Amino acid sequence: MSEMRWHPLLEQWIITATHRQRRTFHPSRGYCPFCPSSRARGFTEVPRADYDIAVFENRFPTFQQRPPRPAVRGTSLTPVRASQGICEVVLYSPEHKQTLAGLPVAQIYKLVRVWADRYAELGARRFVRYVLIFENKGTPVGVTLTHPHGQIYAFPFVPPLIARELDASRRYFARDKKCLKCALASRERRDGRRMVFSSKFFEAFVPFYARWPYEVHVQARRHVQDLTQLADGEYWSLARMLKRVTQTYDALFGFSLPYMMLLHQQPTDGRRHAHFHFHIEFLPPHRTADKLKYLAGSETGAGSFSNDTLPEQTAAALRHAARRVKS
Ligand SMILES: [Zn+2]
Ligand SMILES: [Zn+2]
Ligand SMILES: [Zn+2]
Repeated sequence: MSEMRWHPLLEQWIITATHRQRRTFHPSRGYCPFCPSSRARGFTEVPRADYDIAVFENRFPTFQQRPPRPAVRGTSLTPVRASQGICEVVLYSPEHKQTLAGLPVAQIYKLVRVWADRYAELGARRFVRYVLIFENKGTPVGVTLTHPHGQIYAFPFVPPLIARELDASRRYFARDKKCLKCALASRERRDGRRMVFSSKFFEAFVPFYARWPYEVHVQARRHVQDLTQLADGEYWSLARMLKRVTQTYDALFGFSLPYMMLLHQQPTDGRRHAHFHFHIEFLPPHRTADKLKYLAGSETGAGSFSNDTLPEQTAAALRHAARRVKS
C-alpha cells in the first residue's frame, strides 16, 4: 500500500508506504547488498564484479514511478493521491568500509557530478517537482546498511521545509532586492565566530540559528540555485569542502560521526526561483561524544527546536578538531 494523504492542519502530504516494512534490517553478517557481486558473496543489488559509483532504484521505495491506486478514498478535507515519484540509491564507492570522509577527493568530485546529473535527469520528468539528494549516516539516524551510500527522492511536490525556505527567500528578495543566503553568509564572514572553513568557491559555517549542536551549512559563494550551474572548478572545490567537513566531524569526538546531509537546491517545478541559494546542510544528532539530541515533545509535537549548545562554541570546537585532521 502506498499513497499520499493530505494533513489539513499542517497542510502537507503524509506518505504511506507499508511495503517498506519488509525492507532489509541489519542483514545477516557478512552480506552487504551494496557490495559488488562475487562468487563468494553472491549476487547483490549491483550485478557486477566492480563499480565506481552506482545509482539504482530503491527496492523499497517511498515513491514509485507507477504507484498503485490509493487503498482508500479521500474526502474534500483529506484528499488522497497516488504517491508517484522516484527513489534512488547512490553508492559512493565499491569499498564497504569507506565513508565520505575517507574517499579520495577525485571520487567525491565524481559523486558531486553524479548528483548534478541525477538532479537534472530526474528533475526533467514531468511529475517531479523536487529532487532531494541526501545521506543518512549511522545507526542514530536509522541507517540499516553501513556501506557508503546516499539517497535521492524525486518528489511530486516541494517538501514543506524547502517550501518554507523558498518562501522566506522570495519575500526577502522582493523587499530587499538581495538574496537572503548571500546576506547571511556575508554577515557570517564579517563576524567570523561561526565560520568553520572558507575557500575560493565554498564556505562552511555553523549558522547563527543552528537547530542542531554541530549543524554545518556548506554554501556556494556564488549565487547559484542548483548543482547544474556550477563550473568544473566549483565541483572540485565542493568535493574538497565535503571531505574537510566530514573529516573534521570524525576528528571531533574520535569516531565516524553520524549525520543527515541534505542538498537544498531549487525545485524542478518549472517555475523560476532566482532568489534561492544552493546549500548543503549537515545535521549530526550528537550533542557530545555519548549524548544524542532526540526530537522529543517540543520539536516533534510543536515544531520548536532548542539547542543546548552555542553555535559560536561548536564552531570553535570544529575549527579546533580540523587542526587534528591529517591532510
Ligand atoms: Zn558493502
Ligand atoms: Zn545568494
Ligand atoms: Zn536549507
